[in-house]
Amino acid sequence: MTQPFRLALIAHDQKKADIVAFARTYEKLLAPCEIVATGTTGGLIQEACPSLTIRRVKSGPLGGDQQIGALIAEGKIDGLIFFVDPMSPMPHDVDVKALMRLGSVYDIPMALNRATAEVLVQKRGLLRDDAADNTITAASAT
Ligand code: PGA
Repeated sequence: MTQPFRLALIAHDQKKADIVAFARTYEKLLAPCEIVATGTTGGLIQEACPSLTIRRVKSGPLGGDQQIGALIAEGKIDGLIFFVDPMSPMPHDVDVKALMRLGSVYDIPMALNRATAEVLVQKRGLLRDDAADNTITAASAT
């Protein structure tokens, strides 16, 4: 029996519009997933994407990141998409660090920006089977 992919979604305030846009773009792909999200992020995505079923934990600054970290430690999350704001100081910075640490400890796919999130949700990853195609052009590398 196959079980749905269990995906965690989080975005810092400055990145919430971006994660909502991302979820709308990939709504069809995300629909079969079991999604868990921090409070505010989950509410906004749910509003924009009614076809998704999202379980919301607490808001990040109130412990939501830690709750998702605990789910990772329990083996209940298969992947994390976390649109991080690298430009603003956060009161819950230590919680965010702890969550990323657990993502590394349990070796789950963890996308911290949209570019990596796209790789995570799309069938074809970064590299192709045909090694000849695994080149990066000067234009795309800059
Ligand atoms: P939020 O939490 O979705 O409740 O805003 C996210 C965070 O800031 O970690």
